[in-house]
Amino acid sequence: MSGFNQPVSGNDLARFSGPGTFMRLPSASKLNGLDVAVLGIPMDIGTSWRSGTRFGPKQIRAESAMIRPYNMATGAAPFDCLQVADIGDLAINTFSLSDSIRIISESYDAILSKNTIPVAMGGDHSITLPILRAIARKYGPVALVHVDAHADVNDEMFGEKETHGTVFRRAWEEGLIQPDKTYQIGLRGTGYGADDFTEAQGWGFQQFQAHELWGRDLSDLGAEIRRDIGNRPTYITYDIDSLDPAYAPGTGTPEIGGLTTPQALQLIRALKGVNIVGCDLVEVSPPYDPSGNTGLTGANLIYEMLCVLPGVTSR
Ligand code: MN
Ligand code: MN
Repeated sequence: MSGFNQPVSGNDLARFSGPGTFMRLPSASKLNGLDVAVLGIPMDIGTSWRSGTRFGPKQIRAESAMIRPYNMATGAAPFDCLQVADIGDLAINTFSLSDSIRIISESYDAILSKNTIPVAMGGDHSITLPILRAIARKYGPVALVHVDAHADVNDEMFGEKETHGTVFRRAWEEGLIQPDKTYQIGLRGTGYGADDFTEAQGWGFQQFQAHELWGRDLSDLGAEIRRDIGNRPTYITYDIDSLDPAYAPGTGTPEIGGLTTPQALQLIRALKGVNIVGCDLVEVSPPYDPSGNTGLTGANLIYEMLCVLPGVTSR
């Protein structure tokens, strides 16, 4: 396994010390040679209710110090197969959402030009629109696995077209995603109109509401989605509020009756074999969860996504 970056072992350096990077991986200022770049996008100016996701990357990195390199359930060994590093945070403009969106998109063009898979720690969900713009410039319209309590398909919010609640309508309008290969999983809660979710079904989106998934093993759903996607380039966007607030209270717009942590693991693990070209984990808002459990869960879900990236094999 020589030559691949490894997380610093908790047996070599106490877990509460050492680098503050994701999983205590090496930090990298250059993209050359990286298969995967983990990065933070510390932003919360696209959110509509509680703020605080600007602190998401910092807490996810802190909680990730507990994670060890081998996946005991699946055997996946991501750091034996891929060169992974933490490239730090994007220098967003915290006084301008539109400028931040430009910065994210341009930064992603640079990452994708090196054929590096970007894995982002948000940030509110508005980061995903500029990410998808860059992804589509490279790969064309992608398949999208979108796990969320919300469909995020509003037309506008306070007249603004680019917010955390409008991302996937814009992505559809702009042709960034393949509508019939877009899967929205975990939708629930109250709406402004009875067709808040279902309008997007008319565009082709495949929607799986949380109440249909209660008590179910999501391995089967993940496998169905994997087969339906085939070998298409696929982006995964994981909103932590897809989980029930019992598991992930530290988020901006919590909704009761959500998915469980085991269901999140079942879903991600079943996506092994999908041609994943990037992923993100968004909406972790540390000020609303002083226990750190939301950040811990987010960090582990990012690890689980690393474990299903193309090229990762099991020991
Ligand atoms: Mn969302
Ligand atoms: Mn949401």
